Amino acid sequence: MKDKGSIRIELPEDVRYIIGAFEEAGFEAFAVGGCIRDSLLSRKPEDWDITTSARPEEIKSIFGRTVDTGIKHGTVTVLIKHSLSEFNPDKYELRPYEVTTYRVDGEYKDGRHPEKVSFSPSLKEDLRRRDFTVNAMAYNDTKGLVDEFDGLSDMEAGIIRCVGDPDERFSEDALRILRAVRFEAQLGFGIEEQTAGAIRGHAANLSLVSKERIQAELSKLICSSHPERVAELWRLCMAEHICGGFSELSPEIFAELSEASGGFSELPLRDKYKRYAILLSGQEPSRAQSILRELRLDNDTIAKAVFLVKELFVPIKSDSYDIKLRMQPVTRELFSELIGLKELFAGTKQYKELCGLEDIKSVRSIFERIVRRDEPVYLKELIVKGSDLIKAGMEPGEEVGSLLRLMHDDVLRHPEHNSILFLFSRYLYNG
Ligand code: ATP
Ligand code: MG
Repeated sequence: MKDKGSIRIELPEDVRYIIGAFEEAGFEAFAVGGCIRDSLLSRKPEDWDITTSARPEEIKSIFGRTVDTGIKHGTVTVLIKHSLSEFNPDKYELRPYEVTTYRVDGEYKDGRHPEKVSFSPSLKEDLRRRDFTVNAMAYNDTKGLVDEFDGLSDMEAGIIRCVGDPDERFSEDALRILRAVRFEAQLGFGIEEQTAGAIRGHAANLSLVSKERIQAELSKLICSSHPERVAELWRLCMAEHICGGFSELSPEIFAELSEASGGFSELPLRDKYKRYAILLSGQEPSRAQSILRELRLDNDTIAKAVFLVKELFVPIKSDSYDIKLRMQPVTRELFSELIGLKELFAGTKQYKELCGLEDIKSVRSIFERIVRRDEPVYLKELIVKGSDLIKAGMEPGEEVGSLLRLMHDDVLRHPEHNSILFLFSRYLYNG
């Protein structure tokens, strides 16, 4: 194991500045939690959280710009100014850092939130309330790494383990059981046995957790480098408590795709909607939609994912006109993603026949030709507009729309027909 004393973490300038300001004022302050875990694993931290012995009022008096984010729980956001132009002092941005007073969580009554929190003078107490040992380390340049619960050795062994008694920790807050699997997937770790046993025992308590929180963790899980670990939700009895119909999905799909393509970290498929489309592949589109809605996903993600689910196993003919018809409900970009997803599935043993790799390769090349030649695809790309037809003497109404659709269909078959001269002479001045 690495010698803890010799560990150095390169803190960002702002974080060093914030910690320095606390120390100058006579307080302790450390970067803590996920940012320390990620730095030790050479991963880029999402954000840098700071924990301090200073009370919220004291935090606010040390820094000029602050926001009371969760002042009752001791969290204040400190805003640090960054100039964006050497010449114009008015051009700057404020970068936010969450600073939280060392705290001890009181009793948990609803399986999710502590009844009350109290502040503590002790960093160790603050680390003890954190969920997993790998998330319970703190660091500053003065004291070095503070690792009271052997997070470093668990990290080196690739283990997710609760701080303290897992049964107790999961009965305090059921979201932690889902976080365990999320970290497993993000870090490629395994869940320690006693922790895994306690997860099974508390799985039903997921019903106490809001769907928004469940979705946030589930999204991070399936967008990680190891989405195949979603199968853990079934192994650890959580699947039936995620949302209605979730347990009937097939968790194996990620493993199958990953095997066929050499691992998910290799695939440019990080977008949430694509990962949800994979998870929901083979479902009725209406079922897919209701699952995504229940999980409170945003409308854009739902629309894109449902389109992919709906079209994934419906063959596309290797024919330019057919491809353009199939493109109608979506953008070129999303259609390209559909082809990519079909290619991915066609590469697996299980779905070879459903998609047909050869066919989809030829669809891809025709699609790319359409894009390269900038061929008109959508009605709005038709050179003739409704106003042109009215100017040419047509009465506004149904017929204008019908004629535009007729012209559009012609242009889909023959892109070279997309000229005013041609379309007018064929459809307007030709009887
Ligand atoms: P991410 O990379 O997603 O930001 P993170 O570990 O930083 O991961 P956050 O949700 O940002 O996770 O929380 C920051 C820290 O707060 C965690 O590392 C952990 O120490 C603590 N924490 C967060 N949620 C919980 C929880 N439900 N129970 C106990 N401790 C928690
Ligand atoms: Mg974080």
